[in-house]
Amino acid sequence: MGRKFFVGGNWKCNGTTEQVKNIVSTLNGGGVPSQDVVEVVISPPFVFLPLVKDLLRPDFHVAAQNCWVKKGGAFTGEVSAEMLVNLCIPWVIIGHSERRLILKESNEFVGDKVAYALSQGLKVIACIGETLEQREAGSTTEVVAAQTKAIAAKVSNWADVVLAYEPVWAIGTGKVATPAQAQEVHSELRKWLQANVSPEVAASTRIIYGGSVTAANCKELAAQPDVDGFLVGGASLKPEFIDIIKSAE
Ligand code: PGA
Repeated sequence: MGRKFFVGGNWKCNGTTEQVKNIVSTLNGGGVPSQDVVEVVISPPFVFLPLVKDLLRPDFHVAAQNCWVKKGGAFTGEVSAEMLVNLCIPWVIIGHSERRLILKESNEFVGDKVAYALSQGLKVIACIGETLEQREAGSTTEVVAAQTKAIAAKVSNWADVVLAYEPVWAIGTGKVATPAQAQEVHSELRKWLQANVSPEVAASTRIIYGGSVTAANCKELAAQPDVDGFLVGGASLKPEFIDIIKSAE
């Protein structure tokens, strides 16, 4: 079974109502391959989710950028998985490196979040990736395996999980991983899934790449056999996001 190409747009903490409307109108007007070829998911900040969902073309879906680790309640400032489900938001990004590093989310906490979000019926883009220090120390495989293991420990059904490999040194830096570097880690991750989860999950789980993806570098990355799509930050706020979606073809 082929893995459908997946392109996510992570807007992070950016945008005003006007800008959101402009970006959505550009996306709505762009010619893109059919849903049979590519799945597109846009992730605005929480406050803009209903607006984007209302305005966005129906063949694109939306994702939250985070959600709380368990059932909602007395957790000031958090947004629960139940609320996202209630608003018909189908996807959530969990474990982005900005949350792991700045907000100190541990591997275990991320694993718990992924499991809880799935249990509520959300689909999850689970992010993993090494820092520059870890890469230079030669521990990339070990780091991403530990991050994946903490998710696998809590998750039994991988059908609604997309794994996003995002090397921290490539995020927002303009320093994209080379196609060979991305392919190497994606292939290691697939081998890890094969050995530790199952051959079926290894074959069917989409492993997408994130970190300074642009219209200029996406084609070569997309051509790698284990690169099943992208999680795009900066360029997802620009018209070139359409070209990145088209790299699915
Ligand atoms: P970038 O961000 O494309 O701006 O590097 C990617 C991400 O953080 O998901």
